[in-house]
Amino acid sequence: QTESAYSYPLLIKNLLTNSLVRSPDQEIIYRDEMRYTYRDFHRRVAQLANGLKGLGVKQGDTVAVMDYDSHRYLECYFAVPMMGAVLHTVHIRLSPEQILYTINHAEDDVILVNSELVPLLEPIYNKIKTVKKIILIKETDEAPKTAIKFETDYETLVSGSKQTYDFPDFDENARATTFYTSGTTGDPKGVYFSHRQIVMHTFGLMTGLCAYHSQAIMTSKDVYMPLTPMFHVHAWGMPYLFTMLGARQVYPGRYEPAMILKLVVTEKVTFSHCVPTIIHMLVNSPVIKTVDLSTWKVVIGGSALPRGLCEAAMGAKINLYSAYGMSETCPLLTVAHIKPHMESWDEDRQIDIRCKTGLPIPLVDIEIIDPMGDPVAHDGVQTGEVVARSPWLTQGYLKNPEKSEELWQGGWLHTGDVGNIDTEGYLKITDRVKDVIKTGGEWVSSLELEDIASRHPAVSEAAAIGIADEKWGERPIVLIVLKEIYKGKDLEAEIKQAFIDQHDQGNLPKYGIPDKIIFVDAIAKTGVGKLDKKVIRGQYK
Ligand code: ADP
Repeated sequence: QTESAYSYPLLIKNLLTNSLVRSPDQEIIYRDEMRYTYRDFHRRVAQLANGLKGLGVKQGDTVAVMDYDSHRYLECYFAVPMMGAVLHTVHIRLSPEQILYTINHAEDDVILVNSELVPLLEPIYNKIKTVKKIILIKETDEAPKTAIKFETDYETLVSGSKQTYDFPDFDENARATTFYTSGTTGDPKGVYFSHRQIVMHTFGLMTGLCAYHSQAIMTSKDVYMPLTPMFHVHAWGMPYLFTMLGARQVYPGRYEPAMILKLVVTEKVTFSHCVPTIIHMLVNSPVIKTVDLSTWKVVIGGSALPRGLCEAAMGAKINLYSAYGMSETCPLLTVAHIKPHMESWDEDRQIDIRCKTGLPIPLVDIEIIDPMGDPVAHDGVQTGEVVARSPWLTQGYLKNPEKSEELWQGGWLHTGDVGNIDTEGYLKITDRVKDVIKTGGEWVSSLELEDIASRHPAVSEAAAIGIADEKWGERPIVLIVLKEIYKGKDLEAEIKQAFIDQHDQGNLPKYGIPDKIIFVDAIAKTGVGKLDKKVIRGQYK
């Protein structure tokens, strides 16, 4: 066999090329503050790379970004990996001590920091080990009061640099990005993705979201706005997808409900993605009644979509789809498409499907395994741990061989989630392994209890946890935040009845009926807006 001289490595730079051909004049928008075209974007990506190179950044270096969702972040998504450096998207909702840990652990060389986030860096500045240069991203003209010495500011760096850059070819397996999981237990863990993985994931995402014609959730005609932060799993990889497609994109900066809704309306945003908490916040905002959201499609993930919330959002005419993935999986694994033969089903049955975790997208294999590691039947009943294989899953945790080995036991990535697969092939996550309520040797799904509670008209939010019980090991309790107009009413018996009704209808075992309903003003959330079960368990133990 003769070896061909031809090779086409799957590099992030190749995702970018096409947009200039297809839609050079299409716009990229930042809040109500600025807009420019893809032509400008391509030029600025080259300028940023030249600017970073001028500061000494070379292949293999790590460039950290601390910013809100912006056009600048998008420029970094491309320029940094395209020059062969690694982009560290810093998790800005961690504590300063944890942020310090991630910066030192990733061995960042340069940090780009938004002026509003300088206070996060201030207390840890002296303990940062490997960083040589810090660049200020000015959000306003006002200079931040700080002892930090900035090398330059972002706009000066970009505008003062050469407008073309010859982005090199290199091994597609080179590391492109890294970021850290929330680390609710122990230190945050770093995951990392190669150019090849990000390219493959971008195509996986596209197939998963738009290849099923009658169910195409997105196309290049959509106007995209992220609502999961760009520091978290590359905003689910969507900015890479929409940039590849040359679609119109809107970046909302810091998340504020009024600004988000304003942008959705004025910029005619048609596609977003977020955790259920954000939709919950919007559905409960008074502004929602005054705007037409019927053309807005939102992919929900990061936590289960409670049925009550799905119904409320659909009441507000928002089209919700659920999807599933995690930091370790780049993230997309499944999307809850409705199969063609289900399109004639009534809305109620369709909502059942919409609230499932979904069907694996192409190139994703999902299995449910029992404690012995053997796959269980796909009957919608038998549960076990969800494991996955796909070309875009992290190879392991950065500089942590022990945890990496645990993650990849038996050649499958262990998600730490519990779920089942039904006869149609739909995955349903019923819990996280560590959140399952274990009572009298049986498992109760905390998500199922939350789902039942969420369907009561008075309930705004719910969280189910197990609390220690001498006889049963654990017993379920449910915390509930009531909607404003129901606050102060005694609804314990009524809500408990909702669980009993589900039991009577055969949907909930007797031992799953919660012992207690506790009404609270707020429920603890993690930095990315998910229920923080660990904190909640601590509060109610
Ligand atoms: P963190 O671990 O910090 O919460 P991730 O974004 O990695 O951050 O969270 C991934 C987890 O979120 C999954 O393991 C799963 O438990 C949960 N999750 C994500 N999407 C869904 C979904 N559609 N339904 C239920 N749980 C989900």
